[in-house]
Amino acid sequence: MNKRPILVTGGAGFIGSNFVHHMVSAGYQVITLDALSYAGNLENLRSLENNPKHEFVEGSIADEALIKNLLVTREPSAVINFAAESHVDRSIDSPAAFIETNIVGVFVLLEAFQHYIATRDFADFRFLHVSTDEVYGSVDTEAFHENSPYAPSSPYAASKAAADHLSRAWHKTYDLPTIITNCSNNYGPYQFPEKLIPLMIIKALREEPLPVYGDGKQQRDWIHVSDHCRALQTVLTTGRPGETYNVGCGEDVENIHVVRTLCSILDRLRPRSGDQSYFDLVAYVDDRPGHDQRYSVNANKLHKELGWRPEIAFKAGLEATIIWYLENEDWIASVQSDYSGERLGTFNRIG
Ligand code: NAD
Repeated sequence: MNKRPILVTGGAGFIGSNFVHHMVSAGYQVITLDALSYAGNLENLRSLENNPKHEFVEGSIADEALIKNLLVTREPSAVINFAAESHVDRSIDSPAAFIETNIVGVFVLLEAFQHYIATRDFADFRFLHVSTDEVYGSVDTEAFHENSPYAPSSPYAASKAAADHLSRAWHKTYDLPTIITNCSNNYGPYQFPEKLIPLMIIKALREEPLPVYGDGKQQRDWIHVSDHCRALQTVLTTGRPGETYNVGCGEDVENIHVVRTLCSILDRLRPRSGDQSYFDLVAYVDDRPGHDQRYSVNANKLHKELGWRPEIAFKAGLEATIIWYLENEDWIASVQSDYSGERLGTFNRIG
């Protein structure tokens, strides 16, 4: 294993923090860079506070001077970029921040790393850009493969698509060893409670209405975050520069089925009074503008070329996730305490 550290940008968010824990446990030296937006939380990394294998740096990927300084002083062997504005509803309300971080920020990273690599002989260096299946837009029957056309629907998806194009262009034009992963919907510990699964858990426990967009029949290919982290480590260590790898489980689930399953697990683990089910709290709300009906991911390339497979079945992963939220009420309180009144408006919608 390379002795130089890896740089994880956006590592205080949901997937990033799970990945930082995963890589420190695997023996890597990790530097986390995070701007600590509303979605980034040092509580996610608390158990690494005094761990010599981990260093936290607060700052933005769009801060060119900071990035250059980190490269010169830390000499990372790879960067894995999670830093992003990530919530579709917020991108509809306020797209500017998505352009700034998801596009301009990635441009700053690519430029800085291109110059960094040009002056060094790092044959094994990798720039791993973590992206989403939402860049492909909605699909009717087939599953997205790596050559599916890009057709993003939301400002969020469009900004991620732009960053994918930049990453690919920096490989083709400047020979920067970029790799892109496009992953489906993640769930698991440390997910900020504006996204579907933690939002439903928390609202159900408060006996509040469970807002479901439209008819709830939108389909997503859910993956447990630890399966995604293993996929990223696999791509980082054995993926080919210039390539794209889709990550997903190939199991499409309707949103309403996610909510029904979640409620039935909660009915068993934390029964409501009077024989009521949490599912009785479901309240259908107006659909999100431009809402994609179906995402479905074909991850055969990642399986055939690099040997990765998901290990966690949806129902078992969902139950483990619910138990994590039940056992981590302090974490929920700490991430919610950062909220301003203005943000609470968005918080009440489903992701
Ligand atoms: P998240 O919102 O939980 O975390 C994003 C992190 O980025 C936060 O810690 C935030 O503070 C940080 N950040 C924001 N702007 C920054 C900046 N300018 N500089 C440095 N840090 C900044 O998001 P997530 O769900 O963990 O997603 C991480 C990445 O994975 C994103 O790029 C997202 O597009 C991608 N992705 C997410 C999913 C999913 O289901 N959540 C699926 C596929 C891909």
